[in-house]
Amino acid sequence: MAITSNDVQKLFLQAILSRRILSQKLAAKIWEKCIEAVKAANETLDIEYRNDRNSWDAFVTKINDALNPLDLEFSRLHDEVNGTEIYAVVNRKGDEIAQMATEYNALEIAYFKAVVEQIMLAPNESFCVSSLAALREVNTLKSNMTKSQAEATLSSFVAKGWLVKSRKGRFSLSTRTMLELQTYLRSTYESEITECTICMEIVTRGIACYTPNCQTRMHTHCFNNYRRRNHQCPACKEDWTAGNNLNKLRPVGEAAFKDGQDQGRRRVRRKSTEEQEDADAEGEEADEKNDEVEVEPEPSQTQPNGKGKGKGKGKEKMTRDESMEVDDDKDEDGEDSPPPRTRRKSSRR
Ligand SMILES: [Zn+2]
Ligand SMILES: [Zn+2]
Repeated sequence: MAITSNDVQKLFLQAILSRRILSQKLAAKIWEKCIEAVKAANETLDIEYRNDRNSWDAFVTKINDALNPLDLEFSRLHDEVNGTEIYAVVNRKGDEIAQMATEYNALEIAYFKAVVEQIMLAPNESFCVSSLAALREVNTLKSNMTKSQAEATLSSFVAKGWLVKSRKGRFSLSTRTMLELQTYLRSTYESEITECTICMEIVTRGIACYTPNCQTRMHTHCFNNYRRRNHQCPACKEDWTAGNNLNKLRPVGEAAFKDGQDQGRRRVRRKSTEEQEDADAEGEEADEKNDEVEVEPEPSQTQPNGKGKGKGKGKEKMTRDESMEVDDDKDEDGEDSPPPRTRRKSSRR
Protein backbone atom coordinates (compact mmCIF):
# COMPACT_ATOMS: atom_id res chain seq x y z
CA MET A 1 0.00 0.00 0.00
CA ALA A 2 2.14 2.76 -1.29
CA ILE A 3 1.42 6.21 -0.02
CA THR A 4 1.57 8.65 -2.91
CA SER A 5 1.06 12.34 -3.37
CA ASN A 6 -2.52 11.56 -4.39
CA ASP A 7 -3.18 10.79 -0.78
CA VAL A 8 -2.85 14.49 -0.04
CA GLN A 9 -5.95 15.14 -2.11
CA LYS A 10 -7.77 12.25 -0.53
CA LEU A 11 -7.01 13.40 2.99
CA PHE A 12 -7.85 16.97 2.11
CA LEU A 13 -11.21 16.02 0.62
CA GLN A 14 -12.11 14.02 3.69
CA ALA A 15 -11.26 16.97 5.89
CA ILE A 16 -13.23 19.57 3.96
CA LEU A 17 -16.24 17.37 3.33
CA SER A 18 -16.73 17.02 7.05
CA ARG A 19 -16.57 20.77 7.52
CA ARG A 20 -18.89 22.06 4.81
CA ILE A 21 -17.77 25.67 4.82
CA LEU A 22 -14.40 27.08 5.76
CA SER A 23 -12.14 30.06 5.22
CA GLN A 24 -9.34 29.99 2.67
CA LYS A 25 -6.89 30.43 5.50
CA LEU A 26 -8.12 27.30 7.27
CA ALA A 27 -8.38 25.34 4.02
CA ALA A 28 -4.77 26.18 3.17
CA LYS A 29 -3.71 25.16 6.65
CA ILE A 30 -5.48 21.82 6.23
CA TRP A 31 -3.73 21.34 2.90
CA GLU A 32 -0.38 21.91 4.58
CA LYS A 33 -1.25 19.42 7.34
CA CYS A 34 -2.28 16.82 4.77
CA ILE A 35 1.08 17.15 3.04
CA GLU A 36 2.90 16.79 6.35
CA ALA A 37 0.90 13.68 7.19
CA VAL A 38 1.57 12.05 3.83
CA LYS A 39 5.25 12.92 3.97
CA ALA A 40 5.46 11.44 7.45
CA ALA A 41 3.93 8.21 6.17
CA ASN A 42 6.29 7.97 3.24
CA GLU A 43 9.54 9.79 3.74
CA THR A 44 10.74 9.11 0.23
CA LEU A 45 7.97 11.25 -1.22
CA ASP A 46 8.96 14.69 -2.38
CA ILE A 47 5.79 16.71 -2.51
CA GLU A 48 6.19 20.20 -3.70
CA TYR A 49 4.57 22.70 -1.40
CA ARG A 50 4.73 26.46 -1.48
CA ASN A 51 2.65 28.69 0.67
CA ASP A 52 1.58 31.07 -2.07
CA ARG A 53 -1.48 31.87 -4.05
CA ASN A 54 -0.46 30.20 -7.30
CA SER A 55 0.30 26.90 -5.60
CA TRP A 56 -2.99 27.08 -3.73
CA ASP A 57 -4.97 27.79 -6.91
CA ALA A 58 -3.22 24.91 -8.67
CA PHE A 59 -4.14 22.62 -5.80
CA VAL A 60 -7.79 23.78 -5.91
CA THR A 61 -7.82 22.97 -9.61
CA LYS A 62 -6.61 19.45 -8.84
CA ILE A 63 -9.26 19.03 -6.18
CA ASN A 64 -11.91 20.14 -8.63
CA ASP A 65 -10.68 17.69 -11.25
CA ALA A 66 -11.34 14.99 -8.70
CA LEU A 67 -14.80 16.34 -7.74
CA ASN A 68 -15.94 17.10 -11.26
CA PRO A 69 -17.28 13.62 -12.13
CA LEU A 70 -19.45 13.79 -9.02
CA ASP A 71 -21.02 17.10 -10.04
CA LEU A 72 -19.39 18.67 -7.03
CA GLU A 73 -17.15 21.68 -6.91
CA PHE A 74 -14.78 23.12 -4.34
CA SER A 75 -16.10 26.60 -4.79
CA ARG A 76 -15.19 29.94 -3.29
CA LEU A 77 -16.85 33.21 -2.48
CA HIS A 78 -16.02 36.31 -0.48
CA ASP A 79 -18.02 37.02 2.62
CA GLU A 80 -20.01 40.12 1.76
CA VAL A 81 -19.62 41.70 5.15
CA ASN A 82 -15.89 41.37 5.78
CA GLY A 83 -14.45 40.22 2.45
CA THR A 84 -13.05 36.96 3.86
CA GLU A 85 -12.51 34.29 1.23
CA ILE A 86 -14.71 31.27 1.97
CA TYR A 87 -14.69 27.80 0.42
CA ALA A 88 -17.16 24.94 0.39
CA VAL A 89 -17.85 21.81 -1.58
CA VAL A 90 -21.01 22.63 -3.47
CA ASN A 91 -23.39 20.72 -5.64
CA ARG A 92 -23.39 22.06 -9.16
CA LYS A 93 -26.85 20.75 -9.93
CA GLY A 94 -28.89 23.79 -9.09
CA ASP A 95 -32.40 22.56 -9.77
CA GLU A 96 -32.67 20.91 -6.43
CA ILE A 97 -31.49 22.39 -3.19
CA ALA A 98 -29.88 19.05 -2.59
CA GLN A 99 -27.52 20.34 0.06
CA MET A 100 -30.41 21.05 2.38
CA ALA A 101 -32.05 17.65 2.09
CA THR A 102 -29.90 16.18 4.82
CA GLU A 103 -31.11 18.76 7.30
CA TYR A 104 -34.66 19.56 6.22
CA ASN A 105 -37.74 17.85 4.90
CA ALA A 106 -39.46 18.80 1.67
CA LEU A 107 -41.89 21.20 3.32
CA GLU A 108 -39.15 23.02 5.17
CA ILE A 109 -37.15 23.30 1.97
CA ALA A 110 -40.20 24.67 0.17
CA TYR A 111 -40.56 27.20 2.97
CA PHE A 112 -36.90 28.14 2.69
CA LYS A 113 -37.29 28.67 -1.05
CA ALA A 114 -40.32 30.88 -0.45
CA VAL A 115 -38.44 33.06 2.02
CA VAL A 116 -35.43 33.25 -0.30
CA GLU A 117 -37.79 34.35 -3.04
CA GLN A 118 -39.04 37.26 -0.93
CA ILE A 119 -35.45 38.21 -0.19
CA MET A 120 -34.46 38.10 -3.84
CA LEU A 121 -37.51 40.09 -4.94
CA ALA A 122 -37.26 42.63 -2.13
CA PRO A 123 -37.79 46.21 -3.30
CA ASN A 124 -35.01 48.69 -3.78
CA GLU A 125 -32.26 46.06 -3.91
CA SER A 126 -32.67 45.63 -0.17
CA PHE A 127 -32.37 41.81 -0.37
CA CYS A 128 -34.01 41.26 2.99
CA VAL A 129 -37.39 40.44 4.41
CA SER A 130 -39.06 41.14 7.75
CA SER A 131 -39.99 38.32 10.14
CA LEU A 132 -43.60 39.14 9.53
CA ALA A 133 -43.27 38.84 5.78
CA ALA A 134 -41.17 35.68 6.15
CA LEU A 135 -43.82 34.08 8.36
CA ARG A 136 -46.53 35.13 5.94
CA GLU A 137 -44.88 32.89 3.34
CA VAL A 138 -46.17 29.85 5.21
CA ASN A 139 -49.61 30.60 3.79
CA THR A 140 -48.32 30.02 0.29
CA LEU A 141 -47.21 26.47 0.98
CA LYS A 142 -50.58 24.73 0.96
CA SER A 143 -49.58 22.86 4.05
CA ASN A 144 -50.63 22.77 7.65
CA MET A 145 -47.40 24.22 8.97
CA THR A 146 -48.39 26.41 11.90
CA LYS A 147 -47.03 29.85 12.66
CA SER A 148 -45.02 28.53 15.56
CA GLN A 149 -43.61 25.73 13.45
CA ALA A 150 -42.66 28.32 10.88
CA GLU A 151 -41.01 30.44 13.55
CA ALA A 152 -39.01 27.46 14.73
CA THR A 153 -38.01 26.60 11.17
CA LEU A 154 -36.91 30.16 10.51
CA SER A 155 -34.82 30.13 13.67
CA SER A 156 -33.27 26.90 12.52
CA PHE A 157 -32.38 28.42 9.13
CA VAL A 158 -30.53 31.13 11.05
CA ALA A 159 -28.95 28.74 13.56
CA LYS A 160 -27.62 26.50 10.82
CA GLY A 161 -26.28 29.40 8.84
CA TRP A 162 -28.67 29.40 5.88
CA LEU A 163 -30.11 32.80 6.69
CA VAL A 164 -28.84 35.81 8.59
CA LYS A 165 -31.07 37.74 10.96
CA SER A 166 -30.17 41.37 11.49
CA ARG A 167 -30.50 43.42 14.63
CA LYS A 168 -33.64 44.90 13.20
CA GLY A 169 -35.02 41.42 12.78
CA ARG A 170 -34.79 41.25 9.01
CA PHE A 171 -33.68 38.10 7.22
CA SER A 172 -31.13 38.02 4.43
CA LEU A 173 -29.00 35.45 2.63
CA SER A 174 -26.01 34.03 4.45
CA THR A 175 -22.59 33.43 2.98
CA ARG A 176 -23.29 29.72 3.24
CA THR A 177 -26.44 30.05 1.14
CA MET A 178 -24.77 32.27 -1.40
CA LEU A 179 -21.94 29.78 -1.77
CA GLU A 180 -23.71 26.43 -1.51
CA LEU A 181 -26.86 27.48 -3.33
CA GLN A 182 -25.21 29.73 -5.84
CA THR A 183 -26.23 27.64 -8.83
CA TYR A 184 -29.82 27.61 -7.63
CA LEU A 185 -29.84 31.36 -7.02
CA ARG A 186 -28.24 32.19 -10.33
CA SER A 187 -30.55 29.98 -12.35
CA THR A 188 -33.74 30.89 -10.49
CA TYR A 189 -33.15 34.61 -10.09
CA GLU A 190 -31.18 35.32 -13.22
CA SER A 191 -32.69 38.76 -13.63
CA GLU A 192 -32.84 39.75 -9.98
CA ILE A 193 -29.25 38.92 -9.23
CA THR A 194 -26.78 41.75 -9.35
CA GLU A 195 -23.09 41.11 -9.67
CA CYS A 196 -20.25 43.09 -8.22
CA THR A 197 -18.60 45.14 -10.94
CA ILE A 198 -15.21 44.32 -9.40
CA CYS A 199 -15.29 40.64 -8.42
CA MET A 200 -18.37 39.46 -10.39
CA GLU A 201 -19.75 37.62 -7.37
CA ILE A 202 -23.37 38.14 -6.35
CA VAL A 203 -24.06 41.32 -4.41
CA THR A 204 -26.74 41.44 -1.74
CA ARG A 205 -24.87 43.94 0.43
CA GLY A 206 -22.78 46.83 -0.79
CA ILE A 207 -23.14 50.01 -2.80
CA ALA A 208 -24.70 51.09 -6.08
CA CYS A 209 -23.78 54.02 -8.29
CA TYR A 210 -26.31 56.83 -8.02
CA THR A 211 -26.35 57.66 -11.73
CA PRO A 212 -29.76 56.64 -13.11
CA ASN A 213 -29.52 53.30 -14.91
CA CYS A 214 -25.84 52.88 -14.12
CA GLN A 215 -25.17 49.21 -13.52
CA THR A 216 -22.28 49.57 -11.10
CA ARG A 217 -22.68 47.56 -7.90
CA MET A 218 -19.85 46.77 -5.51
CA HIS A 219 -19.35 44.87 -2.32
CA THR A 220 -18.22 47.15 0.45
CA HIS A 221 -14.78 45.50 0.58
CA CYS A 222 -14.44 45.68 -3.21
CA PHE A 223 -15.48 49.32 -3.15
CA ASN A 224 -12.97 50.12 -0.42
CA ASN A 225 -10.19 48.57 -2.49
CA TYR A 226 -11.35 50.21 -5.66
CA ARG A 227 -11.55 53.72 -4.35
CA ARG A 228 -8.00 53.69 -3.06
CA ARG A 229 -6.87 54.15 -6.63
CA ASN A 230 -9.94 55.29 -8.49
CA HIS A 231 -12.20 58.29 -8.34
CA GLN A 232 -14.65 57.43 -11.05
CA CYS A 233 -17.48 54.99 -11.48
CA PRO A 234 -16.04 52.29 -13.74
CA ALA A 235 -19.19 52.29 -15.85
CA CYS A 236 -20.57 55.82 -16.15
CA LYS A 237 -17.31 57.61 -15.27
CA GLU A 238 -19.08 59.85 -12.77
CA ASP A 239 -16.54 61.37 -10.38
CA TRP A 240 -17.56 59.84 -7.08
CA THR A 241 -15.16 61.97 -5.08
CA ALA A 242 -16.34 65.35 -6.33
CA GLY A 243 -18.35 67.46 -3.91
CA ASN A 244 -20.74 65.39 -1.85
CA ASN A 245 -20.94 62.57 -4.37
CA LEU A 246 -19.66 59.78 -2.12
CA ASN A 247 -22.67 60.30 0.09
CA LYS A 248 -24.93 59.88 -2.89
CA LEU A 249 -23.85 56.29 -3.50
CA ARG A 250 -26.89 54.12 -2.82
CA PRO A 251 -26.78 51.18 -0.43
CA VAL A 252 -27.54 47.64 -1.56
CA GLY A 253 -28.91 45.39 1.17
CA GLU A 254 -30.80 46.09 4.34
CA ALA A 255 -29.74 49.73 4.43
CA ALA A 256 -31.65 50.20 1.18
CA PHE A 257 -34.86 49.08 2.80
CA LYS A 258 -37.36 51.81 3.50
CA ASP A 259 -39.78 51.44 6.38
CA GLY A 260 -43.17 50.19 5.40
CA GLN A 261 -41.97 48.84 2.10
CA ASP A 262 -43.08 45.31 2.77
CA GLN A 263 -46.03 45.86 5.03
CA GLY A 264 -49.33 44.37 4.07
CA ARG A 265 -48.14 43.02 0.80
CA ARG A 266 -45.95 40.36 -0.56
CA ARG A 267 -44.18 39.89 -3.79
CA VAL A 268 -45.87 37.11 -5.56
CA ARG A 269 -44.34 34.37 -7.54
CA ARG A 270 -46.22 32.52 -10.18
CA LYS A 271 -47.61 29.17 -9.36
CA SER A 272 -49.66 28.21 -12.34
CA THR A 273 -49.82 28.97 -16.00
CA GLU A 274 -53.08 30.84 -15.44
CA GLU A 275 -51.62 33.08 -12.82
CA GLN A 276 -48.64 33.51 -14.98
CA GLU A 277 -50.63 34.74 -17.93
CA ASP A 278 -52.39 37.26 -15.75
CA ALA A 279 -49.11 38.37 -14.39
CA ASP A 280 -47.50 38.61 -17.76
CA ALA A 281 -50.30 40.77 -19.01
CA GLU A 282 -49.27 43.43 -16.55
CA GLY A 283 -45.77 42.35 -15.69
CA GLU A 284 -43.08 44.50 -17.10
CA GLU A 285 -40.48 41.81 -16.88
CA ALA A 286 -42.31 39.60 -19.31
CA ASP A 287 -40.45 40.70 -22.37
CA GLU A 288 -37.14 39.41 -21.14
CA LYS A 289 -38.39 35.89 -21.14
CA ASN A 290 -38.77 35.91 -24.86
CA ASP A 291 -35.07 35.35 -25.11
CA GLU A 292 -35.59 31.91 -23.65
CA VAL A 293 -39.01 31.01 -24.93
CA GLU A 294 -38.41 27.34 -25.38
CA VAL A 295 -38.95 26.89 -21.65
CA GLU A 296 -42.41 28.39 -21.75
CA PRO A 297 -44.63 27.35 -24.58
CA GLU A 298 -47.89 28.85 -23.29
CA PRO A 299 -47.58 32.42 -22.22
CA SER A 300 -46.13 33.72 -25.43
CA GLN A 301 -49.60 34.75 -26.63
CA THR A 302 -50.11 37.03 -23.72
CA GLN A 303 -46.60 38.22 -23.54
CA PRO A 304 -45.94 41.48 -25.21
CA ASN A 305 -43.90 39.83 -27.87
CA GLY A 306 -41.28 41.88 -29.53
CA LYS A 307 -41.84 44.64 -27.04
CA GLY A 308 -38.08 44.41 -26.47
CA LYS A 309 -36.92 47.54 -24.83
CA GLY A 310 -33.54 47.32 -26.45
CA LYS A 311 -31.69 47.71 -23.25
CA GLY A 312 -29.13 45.13 -24.06
CA LYS A 313 -27.20 43.90 -21.12
CA GLY A 314 -28.55 46.45 -18.74
CA LYS A 315 -32.09 45.30 -19.03
CA GLU A 316 -32.25 43.24 -15.87
CA LYS A 317 -31.56 46.13 -13.63
CA MET A 318 -33.74 48.46 -15.58
CA THR A 319 -36.56 46.05 -15.17
CA ARG A 320 -35.93 45.83 -11.50
CA ASP A 321 -36.06 49.60 -11.19
CA GLU A 322 -39.29 49.80 -13.05
CA SER A 323 -40.83 47.16 -10.86
CA MET A 324 -39.78 49.10 -7.84
CA GLU A 325 -41.69 52.07 -9.06
CA VAL A 326 -44.80 49.99 -9.35
CA ASP A 327 -44.29 48.75 -5.80
CA ASP A 328 -43.79 52.21 -4.47
CA ASP A 329 -46.93 53.53 -6.09
CA LYS A 330 -48.90 50.79 -4.51
CA ASP A 331 -47.53 51.58 -1.12
CA GLU A 332 -49.27 54.89 -1.19
CA ASP A 333 -52.50 53.35 -2.28
CA GLY A 334 -52.94 51.43 0.92
CA GLU A 335 -53.37 47.94 2.14
CA ASP A 336 -54.89 46.23 -0.85
CA SER A 337 -52.80 43.44 -2.07
CA PRO A 338 -50.55 44.74 -4.77
CA PRO A 339 -50.19 43.59 -8.31
CA PRO A 340 -47.95 40.60 -8.29
CA ARG A 341 -44.34 41.41 -8.67
CA THR A 342 -43.58 38.41 -10.72
CA ARG A 343 -40.80 36.44 -12.07
CA ARG A 344 -40.76 34.49 -15.22
CA LYS A 345 -39.24 31.31 -13.98
CA SER A 346 -42.37 29.60 -12.81
CA SER A 347 -42.06 26.93 -15.45
CA ARG A 348 -39.36 25.48 -13.30
CA ARG A 349 -41.60 25.05 -10.34
ZN1 LIG B 1 -17.12 42.30 -5.11
ZN1 LIG C 1 -21.98 54.81 -12.43
